[in-house]
Amino acid sequence: MKKKIILPETRKAANVMKSKTYLGGPCKKGHNEGRLTSNGDCVVCNRERVSRAYFDSKPICAPEPIEEIPLIIYPPYPTLAKPKRVRRKPGWATIEHP
Ligand SMILES: [Zn+2]
Repeated sequence: MKKKIILPETRKAANVMKSKTYLGGPCKKGHNEGRLTSNGDCVVCNRERVSRAYFDSKPICAPEPIEEIPLIIYPPYPTLAKPKRVRRKPGWATIEHP
């Protein structure tokens, strides 16, 4: 469960208490979730403005066109002929013919 924080009622009281937010009144858009002590802005409006500024600052990344790579069809790999087994009679290898 989220702990309920008791906010100061006015900006002056928030400054004294060193609180970053205070209750204040509802903003022109009707949010009533508190205001920032630093500039008196509505918390919700400020959050929306900051996130909009963040996304606007990001460069739009258009997907790069995919370059078509020509398909190379290679000829079938030549298979080596299996060497024939040479049958030799036992005792064919001598000192003269290793
Ligand atoms: Zn607001």
